[in-house]
Amino acid sequence: MTGNRSKATASATQTKIRCRRFHALADPIISGTQIEPRFFEIEFRRELFDQSSVCQLCKNEIHSFDDSTVDHIIPYSRGGKTTRKNGQLAHRGCNARKNANVAAGVFND
Ligand SMILES: [Zn+2]
Repeated sequence: MTGNRSKATASATQTKIRCRRFHALADPIISGTQIEPRFFEIEFRRELFDQSSVCQLCKNEIHSFDDSTVDHIIPYSRGGKTTRKNGQLAHRGCNARKNANVAAGVFND
């Protein structure tokens, strides 16, 4: 039966692909080169914007999705993670101002 043989070959190939994918994910972590992503995914920003389009920094409404960004509640430069727990919606301008303040050392957390 050639049918069975080609099926077995196909599943062996799939296992190899899965294995390679695992290594692609795991290798940077193992070698210590994995760094925290700097930016939130756009899907998360869309979710936050759909829930409430209020800027969490100035408490005013963000009128355009394009003017919104996801701010790190604990600043990225202070070791804040790019995780949903550490993300809040903010105006691009407010976020830039906060980051400038953090850089200048005047940000109080
Ligand atoms: Zn704002």
